Amino acid sequence: MQSYLVTQIDPFLGVEESDKINSVLKSAWITEGRFSADFVGRLNSLVGVPYGVLAPNGTLALTLGLLAMGIGPGDEVLVPDVTFMGSATAVILCGATPICVDVDPDFFLFDTAKAKKKLTRRSKAMMPVHLFGVSCDMDAIHEFSGKHGLGVIEDAAQGVGVMWRDKHVGSFGDVGCFSFFADKTITTGEGGYISCRNEKIYEKLRLLRNQGRLDRGSFIHPAIGYNFRMTDIQSAMGCAQLDKLDSIINRKKELIQMYRKGLQSVGCLRILGAPTGSNQVAFRCVILAPKIKELAAHLESRKIQTRSVFYPLHRQPCLLNWRNNRTMARWLPSKIQETIQQSESKAFPSSGYFWDHGMCLPMHMKLKETDVEFICQEIQAFYS
Ligand SMILES: *Cc1c(COP(=O)(O)O)cnc(C)c1O
Repeated sequence: MQSYLVTQIDPFLGVEESDKINSVLKSAWITEGRFSADFVGRLNSLVGVPYGVLAPNGTLALTLGLLAMGIGPGDEVLVPDVTFMGSATAVILCGATPICVDVDPDFFLFDTAKAKKKLTRRSKAMMPVHLFGVSCDMDAIHEFSGKHGLGVIEDAAQGVGVMWRDKHVGSFGDVGCFSFFADKTITTGEGGYISCRNEKIYEKLRLLRNQGRLDRGSFIHPAIGYNFRMTDIQSAMGCAQLDKLDSIINRKKELIQMYRKGLQSVGCLRILGAPTGSNQVAFRCVILAPKIKELAAHLESRKIQTRSVFYPLHRQPCLLNWRNNRTMARWLPSKIQETIQQSESKAFPSSGYFWDHGMCLPMHMKLKETDVEFICQEIQAFYS
């Protein structure tokens, strides 16, 4: 056994980041400045959109995007049942209601066939989530949103480098929202970015993120806005990370290949790949297999850090509480929660299956070939 813990993630930071951060500190311009302008410009060209703004994190990028699209109280937003909690809390933060939609049974992504059954007169937008480094079927999303008059907000928090038919995710919807949290493909510690194709929405994004004004330094505020800005320290880090993006994408491809090779003999196990039409910039190495909780315990005992996949949204205690009394503070008794969960789980077979069989294996730039070999050997041993 190796002497160290094989971690799930490990941010890929070096002297390139500290050099750029130091130049910000020396210049003493620490709020959004030249690095932020550069970072946004480079993100816009990466995604292939004319407009974009920064945000403090991915959750607030989603909130800001929804607000700029005009989503508010009384509106419903269709959200896939498998995603990070922040996708749904962003909807709640702008006063609207997240509606959980079961995912597709093959790749556990937004399923338009299932979304159809959840449409009401209040449906205003849909939030495809490009989960685990692959793209949703944006052809299907485009057709569905057009047919039913829905806005589209792409949750591309895990989607840097991810393409649907040679176009970057975040370039399809009204807005696309990215996160630069420590475990994302590129990181600024905390941070976010919103891509946008529409000039009117772009203007709203700018007003909303900067206290309702388009320029700094003025104390006359034409619109209600908030402070959703970042710092130039974070943007400097982001620029250094973007310089490394190609090598990150290539390395992740290699690591997934190593996992595939190492696990091909385990017949009962599947590595989640990319649907036809999408590439894969693996956010984690997601596997599906029987006895997955026991496997996780085994790997942990061998100093290999594991993570579960995302818990189905419709079962989240906080959403059950919120739905039942519209407050975030009051809790439903756990007996009642269990009863609701059991009665609703039948309506979400795919997200339930994913939770019961899915698990994340380590995926990051410092992961060595010998680490992957060791992990694969332990998995082989567990199932033999
Ligand atoms: C990380 C993540 C978010 C939230 O981003 P933060 O920067 O952590 O707020 C939202 N959705 C998905 C799918 C994510 O992975």
